[in-house]
Amino acid sequence: MDENLESIRKKWTERDRVVKAITKDGMFRAAVVHNTLSVQTAQNQHELDPLRSLMLARAMSGATLMASFLKGEERVVLSFEGDGQIRTVYAEAMQVGEVRGYCTMNEEPVADRKSALGQGLLKVQRVLYGKNEPITGIVELIRGDVTTDLGHYLTQSEQIPSAFMLDCAYDEADKIRQSVGLLVQAMPGARPEDIFKVYDVLDMLDRPTEFADRGYTPEDILRQILPTDIDVLGSSPVDFFCRCSIERFKSVLLTLGYDEILSMERQGHNELHCQYCNKRYLLTEQDFGELKEQLLAKRN
Ligand SMILES: [Zn+2]
Repeated sequence: MDENLESIRKKWTERDRVVKAITKDGMFRAAVVHNTLSVQTAQNQHELDPLRSLMLARAMSGATLMASFLKGEERVVLSFEGDGQIRTVYAEAMQVGEVRGYCTMNEEPVADRKSALGQGLLKVQRVLYGKNEPITGIVELIRGDVTTDLGHYLTQSEQIPSAFMLDCAYDEADKIRQSVGLLVQAMPGARPEDIFKVYDVLDMLDRPTEFADRGYTPEDILRQILPTDIDVLGSSPVDFFCRCSIERFKSVLLTLGYDEILSMERQGHNELHCQYCNKRYLLTEQDFGELKEQLLAKRN
C-alpha cells in the first residue's frame, strides 16, 4: 500500500471510536468504545494518579457509551459524589463524540470504605433536543466503583437490563496504556434466559483491553459479545474536548456586576480555571477594560 494511504489508515484505525450495533433479531443492542487517547489526554491534562485516572476513564467511557444512543449534540452527564477516597467523578459526553470530565479526591475520606467512591450518589442527566430541562435520575451508589453503579442505574431506574465493562490497562509508569468500554442492553421482548446468557458471556470474557491489545476493532468485540449476527448502526470518532474559551468565560463574567469585576482586577484575580479540562486563562488589562466598559454600558 502507498505509504501515505497506510499512514492515513493507521491514523484512522488508531483514532478513538465508539461503535454501536443491534442484533439482527432486535433483542440486544450494544456499544463498544476504544478511547485510549481520550482518557490519556484526561489523565495528562488533569495530572491524575492511577486511582483518579481509572475512575475518570470509567466514567468517560460510560458516558460515551450511553451518549452513543442519542442524537447529534444531545449529551449524557454523569456525576458521582462519594465519601471514600474519591469525592467527585464527573463525565460529560455528546453523541457527536466530544467527552470531558474531572475527578477529585476527598480531603477527609471516611475510613474503611470498600470502594474508591464509598457511599454516595450518582446523578445521571440526559440533555435532549426539544426538552427544556435535562432528564435527571439520582440513585445511591451501590458499590462506588462507577462500573457497577452505572449498570445498576440503567437496570433498576430505567428498567433496561444493562451491563457495562469499563476497562483500563496501565504501563509501568502508571499511565493509561489502553482503554476499552462496552455496554450491552436487552431490548423489550428479550427473554430473561437470553439476558442471562449474555451476562454469562460477559463474565467469561477476557478483559476488553486485551482484545484491543490483540488488534480487535470495536466491531470485532461487538461480534464477540452479542449472541447472534449484528447490524452495525454507527461508528463515530471520540475525542477529549472541552468547549471552554476565554470568550465563554468573559460572557459569564458579564453576568456579574461592575463592582465585582473591579474588585477582581484590584485583587489581581486574573486567572480563570476550567474545572472540566484543567485549562487556565489569564485576563489581561485590556480584557478587564473591555469587561468594565461593557458593564458600564449595560448599567446606563
Ligand atoms: Zn475546559
